[in-house]
Amino acid sequence: MAVKKTQPNIDTIVSLAKRRGFIFPSSEIYGGYGAIYDYGPYGVELENAVKREWWKEMVQERQDIVGLDSSIFMHPQIWKASGHVDGFADPLAECKKCNTRLRVDHLLEDIDVFADEKMTEDEINKIFNEHKAKIKCPSCGASDFSDAKKFSLLVKSNLGNFTDNWSKEPAYLRGETCQGIYVNFKNVVDSTRVKIPFGIAQIGKTFRNEIAGRQYVFRTREFEQMEMQYFTHPDKEMEEYEKLRKTRWDYYIKRLGLKEENLKWHQHENLVFYAKDAYDIEYNFPFGFKELEGVHARGNYDLTQHTKFSGVDLSYNDQKTGEKYLPHIIESSVGVGRTVLALLTDAYTEEELEGGGTRVVMKFKPTLAPIKAAVFPLLKNKPDLVAKAKDIFTELSKHFMCEFDDNGNVGKRYRRQDEIGTPYCITVDFDSLEDDTVTVRDRDTMKQERVKVGELFDFLSKRVL
Ligand code: ATP
Repeated sequence: MAVKKTQPNIDTIVSLAKRRGFIFPSSEIYGGYGAIYDYGPYGVELENAVKREWWKEMVQERQDIVGLDSSIFMHPQIWKASGHVDGFADPLAECKKCNTRLRVDHLLEDIDVFADEKMTEDEINKIFNEHKAKIKCPSCGASDFSDAKKFSLLVKSNLGNFTDNWSKEPAYLRGETCQGIYVNFKNVVDSTRVKIPFGIAQIGKTFRNEIAGRQYVFRTREFEQMEMQYFTHPDKEMEEYEKLRKTRWDYYIKRLGLKEENLKWHQHENLVFYAKDAYDIEYNFPFGFKELEGVHARGNYDLTQHTKFSGVDLSYNDQKTGEKYLPHIIESSVGVGRTVLALLTDAYTEEELEGGGTRVVMKFKPTLAPIKAAVFPLLKNKPDLVAKAKDIFTELSKHFMCEFDDNGNVGKRYRRQDEIGTPYCITVDFDSLEDDTVTVRDRDTMKQERVKVGELFDFLSKRVL
């Protein structure tokens, strides 16, 4: 069996994801809605699997990390304290020939020039003007750009605004989930038995007014983040940071099963003033290596800011040593959508078959596969086969996501399950009626074996949970 190893291109992924019910453009019958996507029947299963695995890794299997679900709307002062109201903005320029709006920091990055996100418009324009001549518009190839202008990424709402008093600070839809963690730090310390070092993890929706949103689910205006903030003693920050970096790298390879050659570290060159160190884990997306996750050492900036703006002292009292201090924070932050795109890219495989022809198979790690097992009666018009297959489906689907399919020949049904990455297909045939065994076909090897119906639960549990 010859396997095609190259990374799929983005059109291949987009088309498979749409055709097979993973990801749809939002509001499609209305012509779509910029940089927003919907997850279809298999997409939502994949997302749920990603969130489940992340939660297991971060919360369930750790004694020192607890979960949280803070709200999307928060006090507007939080976004002042965090620096988002004044500083969370991307520099944009327009191509004068085709009018495409482009992120100037990304254009510069492509020619290995790095701009700090905290730079003012004037500072960015100074660098941009020096290098403009070398930069080509990715859409039309021209090299004629307007000046850069900064646009806020925060999404405003009119929540609670029952007057025409627009001078009031608007309620924002959160631009990151971690602010909800920082402002609940004291609540968690006061209400649970956590002791430093400890972490708080949360998964939730985030909104950003992204301007250059043409990278599929890599960059969307509404997305889910999975963030873990770990609170340490100031002297232990960097030691804990190195531990976190290692666990996050291992997570992608061991727990998500991504190929190691598709991952790499990227250390930030221009650190924001409070950061001690910042790395991204990059994945080899169809458009090249780009940030999948950020792992950052943030010092005590966040708790300092919220202490200052709220007037509530957020320092930690160490009962054992009597020491009182503002904890330092290290964080891991990753998007669900970017993880799903990495998984789709990594799993995509084209294989030439021995008898001729090719098959497309999504080789997800079985624990992540949207559907764990598909159950088929060999023939649709044999009531005994159908009834037995339905019984098996009813039993297994109490424990695993399963699908029942009696449509077309079995070969076609295998191909369909291959394309959505189902690790096992179970076929009920005439022998099954005699000896209570079924054929279980393995997605990757395509080998078939007979398994007793009573042993199917154990067989699957060992392999897909
Ligand atoms: P980028 O530089 O690509 O804009 P970022 O550095 O602003 O990303 P963070 O603010 O550190 O990203 O957010 C943490 C994680 O959230 C990112 O690593 C990414 O996985 C995810 N993420 C950020 N912005 C988006 C987005 N617009 N769409 C989807 N996922 C996103």
